[in-house]
Amino acid sequence: MKVGFIGVGNMGGPMCRNIIRNTNHEVVVFDLSPEAVKACTDLGASSGTSVADVASRCDVVITSLPVPRIVEEVTLGAGGIAENAKPGTVFIDLSTNSPATAKRVNEGMKAKGIQMLEAPVSGGTARAKDGTIVIMVGGDAKVFEQNLPLLKSFSGEVIHMGDIGYGSTAKLINNMLAFCNSAAAAEALMIGKRSGIDLKKLDAVIRNASGMSTGYANLSAKTLAGNFEATFALDLAHKDLRLALEMADELGVPGLIAPQVMSLMRMARGMGLGSSDSASMVRVYETALGEDIRA
Ligand code: NAD
Repeated sequence: MKVGFIGVGNMGGPMCRNIIRNTNHEVVVFDLSPEAVKACTDLGASSGTSVADVASRCDVVITSLPVPRIVEEVTLGAGGIAENAKPGTVFIDLSTNSPATAKRVNEGMKAKGIQMLEAPVSGGTARAKDGTIVIMVGGDAKVFEQNLPLLKSFSGEVIHMGDIGYGSTAKLINNMLAFCNSAAAAEALMIGKRSGIDLKKLDAVIRNASGMSTGYANLSAKTLAGNFEATFALDLAHKDLRLALEMADELGVPGLIAPQVMSLMRMARGMGLGSSDSASMVRVYETALGEDIRA
């Protein structure tokens, strides 16, 4: 089978490379970044010349793209997947979108005889690399079953959530929770810093106690090392939380905690940290209080 992969960045790159390593599918990649493409062609993939080129000659086309605007452009726009893929092609989107975007893209694909699965992922770059990422899938159950071996070739857990829209819904709820935990971690670490406690020991306690969460673990690792190079950019985290808050609004769920985290993210972006890692939320505390949290 010929598998196209469009968007081989921080997440798409390692997931694509696991497909190359773990299957005998022929993989064709396209990305605006030549270095990102090279990291996949070095492992045996071939390079497509455009979205249209990849879409027109693959049986399955996978995308992992930054924001809904780009996903819509690459899928429904001129020269995009819907315009160029053959009827019967399967389209799988691993990006994080709103349920409304997923449904809109699905309608556009359906009109061209293309079957779509929305399949956002969770686990960050580390789990994308080691192939244990979690995939939450919305779409037709039969299409899901047919493509399960491909999804399993680069993941740990694959869960079919129901119709198109429920994959994104699960992803946005999950990420809202993770960012709330990260924001609380930033506050907790600053309290620790000011108290004079040994931060390495505090970290060891939390990692083995009830305060532990993935949001804590990610933020504390970056903060204590003072390394905010993006594995998950703040701009993308902000996009996810904005979509989660929009969904909460549409569903009539008033938020107390997530909107505060949104304000923290907005302040960090206002400080010019959008392309730094999402853990740089902690820089708001550090800058306001005039001291860094390092161990
Ligand atoms: P990224 O910016 O590292 O990668 C996106 C890639 O898409 C880049 O290489 C970019 O060059 C490419 N691209 C952009 N526009 C393109 C176009 N028009 N045609 C072809 N390629 C194009 O982002 P990422 O961190 O890999 O995130 C990808 C998606 O996965 C996002 O939707 C994000 O929210 C989601 N996600 C990220 C993480 C994480 O930890 N980084 C975790 C889970 C989900």
